[in-house]
Amino acid sequence: MKNPCIANDVGIGQADNLKHKQLHISLVALILVVAITSSVLYLHFSWNKYRDIASAEAVMLAESLESLLHPEHIAVLSGNEEDLQKQEYTMLKLSLMRLVKTTNPIRFAYLMGERNGNIVILMDSESSDSPEYSPPGQLYSEANQTTWEPFRSGNTVLSKPITDRWGTWISVIVPIKNPSNGSVIAVLGIDYPASQWNLRIWKQMIPDIIIVLCLGLLVYALYHSWNQSTTLKNLGKKLAYDEALYHSIFTQAPIGIAIVNDKSFVTQSEFGHTSINIMFEKILGWTSQELERKKWTEITFAEDLQADLEKFEQFKNGEINGYSLEKRFIKPDGSVVWTDMVVSPLLGESGSVHLCLLEDISKRKETEKALIESERSKSVLLSNLPGLAYRCKYDSNWTMLFVSEGCLELTGYAPESLLHNREISFNDIISPEYRILLDKEWKRILPQRLPFKYEYEITTAQGERKWVLEMGEGVYDEQGSVEALEGIVLDISDRKKFEDNLRYNNEHDAWTGLHNRRFLENLLKNDAAIPFSEKRALISINLNAMYLLSLRYGFHYSQALIQKIANELRVYCNENCMLFSSYEYRFVFYVTAYEDKEDLMCFCEKIENVLESLLSSESITTGLGIVEIDDENKQDIEMLLKNLLIASEKAIHAEDQTIRTCFFNEEMSSQIAREQVITYELSRIASGENIERLFLQYQPILDVPSNRICGFEALARLNCDDFGLVSPLEFIPIAEKSRLIVPLGEIIIRKALEFLKAIQNNGHYGISVSINISGIQLLQVDFVKNLLQQIEETNVNPSNIGLELTESIFTSNYEEINATLAKLKSCGMKIAIDDFGTGYSSLARERELNANCLKIDKFFIDKLLFLSDEEAITGDIISMAHKLGHCVIAEGVEDERQLNYLKHHGCDKIQGYLIGKPLSERDALEIIEK
Ligand code: C2E
Ligand code: CA
Ligand code: CA
Repeated sequence: MKNPCIANDVGIGQADNLKHKQLHISLVALILVVAITSSVLYLHFSWNKYRDIASAEAVMLAESLESLLHPEHIAVLSGNEEDLQKQEYTMLKLSLMRLVKTTNPIRFAYLMGERNGNIVILMDSESSDSPEYSPPGQLYSEANQTTWEPFRSGNTVLSKPITDRWGTWISVIVPIKNPSNGSVIAVLGIDYPASQWNLRIWKQMIPDIIIVLCLGLLVYALYHSWNQSTTLKNLGKKLAYDEALYHSIFTQAPIGIAIVNDKSFVTQSEFGHTSINIMFEKILGWTSQELERKKWTEITFAEDLQADLEKFEQFKNGEINGYSLEKRFIKPDGSVVWTDMVVSPLLGESGSVHLCLLEDISKRKETEKALIESERSKSVLLSNLPGLAYRCKYDSNWTMLFVSEGCLELTGYAPESLLHNREISFNDIISPEYRILLDKEWKRILPQRLPFKYEYEITTAQGERKWVLEMGEGVYDEQGSVEALEGIVLDISDRKKFEDNLRYNNEHDAWTGLHNRRFLENLLKNDAAIPFSEKRALISINLNAMYLLSLRYGFHYSQALIQKIANELRVYCNENCMLFSSYEYRFVFYVTAYEDKEDLMCFCEKIENVLESLLSSESITTGLGIVEIDDENKQDIEMLLKNLLIASEKAIHAEDQTIRTCFFNEEMSSQIAREQVITYELSRIASGENIERLFLQYQPILDVPSNRICGFEALARLNCDDFGLVSPLEFIPIAEKSRLIVPLGEIIIRKALEFLKAIQNNGHYGISVSINISGIQLLQVDFVKNLLQQIEETNVNPSNIGLELTESIFTSNYEEINATLAKLKSCGMKIAIDDFGTGYSSLARERELNANCLKIDKFFIDKLLFLSDEEAITGDIISMAHKLGHCVIAEGVEDERQLNYLKHHGCDKIQGYLIGKPLSERDALEIIEK
């Protein structure tokens, strides 16, 4: 693109030039006009001057001639033929003839006189035989004003050029007067030929003309020299411009320019110009001053020096007219710069001086290097690819245009045999069942320019099937149509094997080899998607209690048993009955195409029998849950499995131990929902919200010997938004299951201790408060520490605190729990074993147990109403407990008969509705006062 600024400058320059030229022309024209005008004026003036002189001379000559003629002779002439005879005529004629002959340039001389009012010729200077001869008396018909003038005025007249029959003349006509009276008797006419007259003036003008010419020459010379100087000035300007142009190009050129003398750099030309430009310094990193002291051979990279020197030698010897070379120079810091160097003669300069042009090509070289590196790494990549890389046509054969070396190992065919389908096409290698699928996939992704990724099998030259993964993409031309396909085909046989393993592990239970829950879920999901007319159901076998076996006999024992059970159950599998190992200690049958519920129950009975025979000696409870699948519930697999679990749990906990199979029903799920609401309420209380909804009631305990209230049992109560008052029999197990019992237990302990504090504050120091403690609570590491801290904070007497623990917690961690109890006991607290008689513990073990009291369960107290004193063992329990050093509390006493029996058998304390129902804190405090 043209630089608009420069274009403008050029425009201005041209306009200036034009103006200058116009001025120049006008000046020259003015000078010319002045010179010509003055020359013409001058010549005109001279001409007039010489003409006047000639006229004066002519008049003088004529007048002096006239004075030579004798008027008396003239007077004799009559103006006719007779005059010819007269002597005077002859004398006068001779005089005229002599005059004409001797006086140049007079051509004619004649005498004219007035006769009868006309002017007639009296005589002329011509001989009578001349054709111009006029005989005397001839009428001068050409007479005009001028001819008449001397006759009338008596003055000499010089005529203007007059043309007559003899030519063009200038005549001087002098009157010849009668000396006596002064009258004009005749006139003497002398004719000068006009040409000769003028010629004579011209001749006189020669010096003037020469002067004018000289002046003209002078003017021309002046003009010329002025013109020369202007041209010179313009040339000077042009030179300055050229110089500026050269200088800016030199300094600002994006290539390095230097003048070099043989092997040295020239820093300044003989005219003082800088000979190394800024770019040259910039590329090399050396300043001009430094370069002046260096030879280019010194800063040339060693490896490139030889090539440069050879070329330079040829150049110096005139063998080549210049050369270019990619070479490296060493910078001052020792680094290297790649340049493209052109060495050429300095035009117009002879000798050893030459021009050196440099272009920095380091970047290009770097790119080239990177390209080479990338080519190299590409080739490394290709040769180490676990498969082949390809470029192929987008046709039905996948005609190969390029195939990498790995082809041989992958396919058993050499790359060349695949190129252009020479021996075999790639399509032939693809296992037939994948060919259409592959084509379809390419057709799908190419229009969207998506990457291609597909796993399929090929058949190698050896006939072996191999899994491969192909990844590729389309190569498109400018019009967007597919030019070729490029990509890689990798051997993934190993991965496939691994994947198969992984899938197997993913879908199977490692221990039993049965399909696992994930597989079951997928199967149910798939079955849910297809319409199903036959009945379908899931049967869960809940062997959860087997964990107790693990506890008792170790993991391997229970797992071996599980394997055994799995093998026995497998026998029942057929096309309509699949067995899964859904969780640890849980199996599921997926039964299809059964008749009705009866049918299912029948099947379950068989299973129960199997379990019975295997587990009879293990004393663990199992349960079978059944969920029937219908159109309404088939989609929610999560829900199906959850319901299955609920049903099987229900079956385990069924009170009637004979029925161990339970169909899932909606009541169960509402039970679950209720449990969820309660759990939520409890968790809010545990986190400090609605804390008043958990409160305590206190049931009095009677000391039999003194017949006085000796203590209270603190009983927890929950007030729930949705269900009102919820029994601890319901919410305590829920709190235990969710482990919320830990924070809730702390709240309960705190409230109970505050109640005890209130009793003590009222001055009753002998009354104690018993708190129910769950096993989970007791097993907390810092349970004792927290409890002691609370006791300290409320400042109550520890010996007035009772802790009630159910028997069941001693089934596990006996040692640990007993040690904790010892600590608590040593602090003065009283430990009571709650619900005694219902659990696993035996009286024998109570000996080592760090307990103070046994609390006989209501079950044994109730018995007292139906059994005779002899039949009841309650009294034996009391005496045994006493022998072991424990005091005995009877709970759930509602009847006088019970009370009497207990008193009779020495029971220490009584608790029950007969004594008092659980009371609010205020009522309890009131009762003490009474
Ligand atoms: P438990 O410790 O055996 O408590 C005695 C239960 O029997 C109480 O039921 C009490 O109200 C009831 N009871 C007392 N005398 C009679 C009677 O003469 N006739 C009848 N029919 N029942 C009587 P409650 O309050 O429903 O407590 C049930 C169970 O909840 C308790 O049994 C205890 O195991 C548990 N529990 C209550 N409060 C707590 C607590 O704060 N923490 C823990 N961990 N468990 C608690
Ligand atoms: Ca209790
Ligand atoms: Ca109890």
